[in-house]
Amino acid sequence: MKIFYSDLHFQHAPAFEVFDGGVRVPTFEVPERAERILAALRKTGWAEIHPPIDFGLDSILAVHDRDYVEFLASAWTEWLATDPEAESATDKSALLPATFALRGQAHRPKSLLGRAGYYMMDLSAPIVAGTYAAALASANCALSAAQAITHTTSTFALCRPPGHHAGKSHCGGYCYFNNAAIAAHWLSAHGKVTLLDIDYHAGNGTQDIFYERGDVLSISIHADPAFEYPYYAGYAEERGAGAGLGFHHNFPLPAGTGDEEYLTTLNAALHLIREFQPTALVISAGMDIYSEDPLGKIRITREGIRQIGARIAELRLPTAIIMEGGYNNDALGDNVVAFLGEFE
Ligand SMILES: [Zn+2]
Repeated sequence: MKIFYSDLHFQHAPAFEVFDGGVRVPTFEVPERAERILAALRKTGWAEIHPPIDFGLDSILAVHDRDYVEFLASAWTEWLATDPEAESATDKSALLPATFALRGQAHRPKSLLGRAGYYMMDLSAPIVAGTYAAALASANCALSAAQAITHTTSTFALCRPPGHHAGKSHCGGYCYFNNAAIAAHWLSAHGKVTLLDIDYHAGNGTQDIFYERGDVLSISIHADPAFEYPYYAGYAEERGAGAGLGFHHNFPLPAGTGDEEYLTTLNAALHLIREFQPTALVISAGMDIYSEDPLGKIRITREGIRQIGARIAELRLPTAIIMEGGYNNDALGDNVVAFLGEFE
């Protein structure tokens, strides 16, 4: 299997995030995650590791607003420039918003902190010196995986930072560019596409991007946002709008969901995919569904993860698998290998 990986991800390493109502903690989304996955893949006999191809900005601008992309590109340099007294980058450890642009009141501001409030959804996606470079490389991994499935069956993009919480014009939840959405949009030029999101958290960014599109069927299986991040999206009644009405599906799960209940829900999602008859499949593969994940409250075993992979692989569709969350670093590599092995 072709695996796309870039070590530019190391450049994105915020020292902290603000968690659960105001606790400042070391970020869970660390470079070690990608390195653990890479190490586990290298032990298999089937993983061929490739650097991504540079697709340029057009494929990203097809999904994200230009003003938002320009904000990400220049935010760090502007942030340093706000304090000429700062001796070094470590004096300005990360850019986070000072305000949030609330529902419907949003005038797009010009100042840096104003734009930070406008484009940043929460306090878990700080911008640091290497964020933009790492996010670009991550998107290119996803695009490379999408391009590769036009002539092979399945590929894996070892994306870091992840992407599914990033919407058309916002970052949040460790995500800056929506890698899976960028890949799905790229594939949509060649036919109908399904994006299936199995990360523990609702893929609110993906929902935002495809909500009014009927050519990309988007499905997310996740912890019920009634109790879990991102709280304001991912409910079952959100089914798409306009041309996209009926082409978005959320499957919220209760806390404590185990393998058997999860697989029953997955079957319902797979039924929708078979009816839609896509020419390609993109998977937002988050491993925070794992029973021992520090951020998760559902209880999927490694054997359950393997079975999820096996059932999706039975669709026999060209499939680009895009890495999303997963924060139990000791188990992460083996969980990814268990999942991907079913597509080999
Ligand atoms: Zn997640």
